[in-house]
Amino acid sequence: MSLEIKNVTKKYKDFIAVNALDFTIDKGEIFGLIGQNGAGKTTTFRMILNLQETTEGDILWNGQSVHKLNRDLLGYLPEERGIFPQMKIEEQLYFFGTLRGRSKKELKPDIDYWMDRFELMEKKNDKAETLSKGNQQKVQLIASFIHRPEFLILDEPFSGLDPVNRQHLMDAILYMKEQGTTILFSSHQMDNVEELCDHLCILKRGKSLFSGGLQQLKEAYGKIKLSVRTDKTLEQLNGLEGVQRVVQTKDGFTLFLENEHYGEAIYHAISEGRYMDKFSLDFLTLDEIFKLKVGEPVE
Ligand code: ATP
Repeated sequence: MSLEIKNVTKKYKDFIAVNALDFTIDKGEIFGLIGQNGAGKTTTFRMILNLQETTEGDILWNGQSVHKLNRDLLGYLPEERGIFPQMKIEEQLYFFGTLRGRSKKELKPDIDYWMDRFELMEKKNDKAETLSKGNQQKVQLIASFIHRPEFLILDEPFSGLDPVNRQHLMDAILYMKEQGTTILFSSHQMDNVEELCDHLCILKRGKSLFSGGLQQLKEAYGKIKLSVRTDKTLEQLNGLEGVQRVVQTKDGFTLFLENEHYGEAIYHAISEGRYMDKFSLDFLTLDEIFKLKVGEPVE
């Protein structure tokens, strides 16, 4: 079971918003779509949901057009936030849940569970308009999956949430994955993507710069980030063979290497046979890779 995006293009007159996009999301995985503003993320989501037509290409769910899929099996948190301002939040969740085919009786334990988990229980009889922005977002988020969809699309779900609620959301996404839900989400916050995703696609101006496994992406760059504490100067470190760039940090230096094989020689050159309390060669973070990738020209 999978969602296949097959050579999908979206044009607005002469402007290509999504350009020959091709990737597959397997059932039960968490897939991240990342890109700068205007990269084509929301357009991709809207095409999957049939809110917008593709100009070219196919979108298949288990081998069949996704548009034949029962809508109740899909969940969507749109980028534009919006709930009924005058409706009490618990009522609102029952409204959305019953609209998507579940009975009030079935919904009750789930609504209680999620309101409790997102610390909304004591506000259940408050009108949505009286809630803070973050709390309104949590209500809309719960509404997007309260009908237990098979496939859930979350457009920028982390934006506007404080660190505690970001963590609640992260745990909730992992919990839903355990329940077998397939999740596609976009985020500008790379730490969230790094922690959650099995696979991801990096978009730049509608084109995919990478799509595949997170670990595969990291390994393609290798362990080229070296953190050291040393009494050597910035100039001395910059002069070492295989060093591309050196950044001074609060706690020493970070060296970016041409490739990880330089690590051993650099270790000997810096330590000169003495004990070092910090020398660590690591993969780049997704944030660092993203900045490198989006800086590359699109072919
Ligand atoms: P953001 O992170 O800012 O939400 P995004 O990656 O979701 O960005 P999209 O909203 O998919 O980007 O937009 C992709 C491109 O398509 C943008 O350049 C946008 O201006 C353009 N676009 C979107 N909708 C239309 C439309 N109806 N007519 C013309 N151009 C459009």
